[in-house]
Amino acid sequence: MRLKRIRLAGFKSFVDPTTIQLPGRLIGIVGPNGCGKSNVIDAVRWVMGESSAKTLRGDSMADVIFNGSTSRKPVGQASVELVFDNADGGLGGQYARFAEISIRRTVTRDGQSAYYLNGTRCRRRDIMDVFLGTGLGPRSYSIIEQGMISRLIEARPEELRAYLEEAAGISRYKERRRETETR
Ligand code: ATP
Ligand code: MG
Repeated sequence: MRLKRIRLAGFKSFVDPTTIQLPGRLIGIVGPNGCGKSNVIDAVRWVMGESSAKTLRGDSMADVIFNGSTSRKPVGQASVELVFDNADGGLGGQYARFAEISIRRTVTRDGQSAYYLNGTRCRRRDIMDVFLGTGLGPRSYSIIEQGMISRLIEARPEELRAYLEEAAGISRYKERRRETETR
């Protein structure tokens, strides 16, 4: 499973529809300060269900919507889509039959978010479910940000265990059990 394309529109500094192709296994994003490199990572976290505005370096969820510049008016909606190549069936279970998996999230100024899985409207938890136990996810270890290594080193045993369970793919079953028990 590999992320092969990111599409942004109205998200932070990416006001016009922008497609970022990721054709290899190792990609570097370079550019001057303030050009939008971190915004791309924010977009990846956001579309996977991040619900904390602070984690996305904003004060409210609507802060991810392009809020205008000297030459452009603000827009009313932000949209981000991730397209994964799943030809190797890396995303298993019910998702293994899809050679390509697309997840998309939109938000409007009134704070209404909508999620789509391969073009079909779904819930946030459906998106979270796709990635549970894969190491991907808004807060998972597939995104290593500044400070995370030292947090890992200093983590309490139960925090470390959560990372190990995610790496081993156990977290998906634990979440299922938790859901069953609370139903
Ligand atoms: P650095 O190298 O300093 O880390 P960077 O390439 O990571 O820079 P980002 O933090 O991704 O830069 O982008 C910052 C830019 O995004 C700023 O110019 C900021 O004005 C712009 N920006 C952030 N949110 C919005 C928004 N909602 N609407 C318009 N522009 C935005
Ligand atoms: Mg940055």
